[in-house]
Amino acid sequence: MRLAEDLRSCVAGDVFGPGDDGYGPATQTWDLAAVSRPPLVLVAATDQDIAAGARWADRNELGIAILNTGHGAFSPNDGVLVINTGRVNTVQVDIAGRWATVGAGARWSDVSAAAGPHGLIGAAGGSPGVGVIGYTLGGGLSPLGRTLGFAADRVTSLTVLDADYRPLRVGADDGETFWALRGGGPLGIVTGMEFELASIPSFYGGGIYFDGAHAPDLLSAYADWVADLDDRTSTSIALIHLPPAPQLPPELRGRFVVHLRVAHVGPGADDLAAEGRRACARMLAAAPAIIDATRVMTPDEVPDIHRDPVAPQDVAYRGGFVDDLDAATIATIAGSIPPAPSAGPRMIELRHLGGAYSRSPIAPSSSTGRGAPFNLYVTAASTPEVASDARTLVDRTVQAITPSHQGQLNFYGPSPSPGSILDLWDDTDAGRLLAVAQELDPRGRIHTGRPLR
Ligand SMILES: Cc1cc2nc3c(=O)[nH]c(=O)nc-3n(C[C@H](O)[C@H](O)[C@H](O)COP(=O)(O)OP(=O)(O)OC[C@H]3O[C@@H](n4cnc5c(N)ncnc54)[C@H](O)[C@@H]3O)c2cc1C
Repeated sequence: MRLAEDLRSCVAGDVFGPGDDGYGPATQTWDLAAVSRPPLVLVAATDQDIAAGARWADRNELGIAILNTGHGAFSPNDGVLVINTGRVNTVQVDIAGRWATVGAGARWSDVSAAAGPHGLIGAAGGSPGVGVIGYTLGGGLSPLGRTLGFAADRVTSLTVLDADYRPLRVGADDGETFWALRGGGPLGIVTGMEFELASIPSFYGGGIYFDGAHAPDLLSAYADWVADLDDRTSTSIALIHLPPAPQLPPELRGRFVVHLRVAHVGPGADDLAAEGRRACARMLAAAPAIIDATRVMTPDEVPDIHRDPVAPQDVAYRGGFVDDLDAATIATIAGSIPPAPSAGPRMIELRHLGGAYSRSPIAPSSSTGRGAPFNLYVTAASTPEVASDARTLVDRTVQAITPSHQGQLNFYGPSPSPGSILDLWDDTDAGRLLAVAQELDPRGRIHTGRPLR
């Protein structure tokens, strides 16, 4: 109680401990199987609160965990002050300059609401509920990623707290720190970020659902199809056991499907629908579609491409890169997800990389996967009771599909051990990331589920 009172005297936001009414919602993570039980949580009201809370935790020799949406929160947070940033969700859009500035708690839905009506779009993820900064610190793969590149590559500046929790603006002239924060994960506490938007008032996109029995044929057609696509077309393909959820169309409920996702940025609105349909024709010829939900879309409709679950889930996941979608890999993928929902992973997803992912227009960034052809993402149902079985299942599935130890930070899941996340980079870049983490957080106060050290 004394600690809580002391913290309250330093901040404008709310402070909750276990047993307080606000404690549950303020510590909630998206992954229902993750356990978070900090002694205190601060729901920050302002940037200054975030810095004051961090300074207070440091003074009291507590760890610090930043929590926004909880989509990537895996740390149990024992002995740690959780700083919930969700209320600091400011978004400013410069329409003429095509850039946005966001606060620590902004979600992609906030950016879409502010920028979408002006035909502007950020490199948003598949789900509107994901936090802009947490996502971008991990690289950020968008459903329009082959056109827009990594979200991290579009960042023009960040405000990060320095070793004494003072705001430090970091831009392209700030070499290592700017490089490291754009893809290297939460190496410091970021209270603001500015990034480029793109003018895409409409595009052709959405999803096409096929029966899962056609998975081998569709994966094979997909491998041929994407080889001919330029960077105006971004796609992914997922083998999914859909839940029997009433919000799904009746023909998809509880079904094992192949879900093809497409975003095609055309030359102009007139030709867009015809051009988009032409782009998808080869895949539609590969198997009968259950539902073809592709159409001309506006920026606010990006979440309709992947239709990711928005409510918290009981899920374990792991990712990696796939170098070649050859016949053997296709057979392994199709064989790894049996038609019975309880017998294997819930989803195996491949996102086509390349295109704008191969370039870094503003300055080099630490995002991994610049040369990789496909990003792999495997999920499995989990609960606290079966969490380790689910983890083993997703780990084994990823290992069977790809021997690569590399992958994207955002798809890595919780680290099996401190430092194992560094396997995503080569030794030189891992050393550079550690050096920046040491500079921003010399006393190792920052806690995440993917610790660097
Ligand atoms: C349903 C779903 C869909 C997803 N879709 C995509 C996708 O399309 N593309 C993609 O690239 N990724 C995707 N992800 C992964 C997601 O981008 C990461 O999990 C990301 O870390 C989430 O960030 P967050 O802030 O929303 O979550 P949080 O759990 O709140 O934060 C994640 C991590 O970032 C840290 N963090 C957050 N904000 C800050 C800050 N201001 N300063 C310092 N550290 C901070 C937190 O401490 C934590 O360690 C998805 C995840 C889920 C669950």
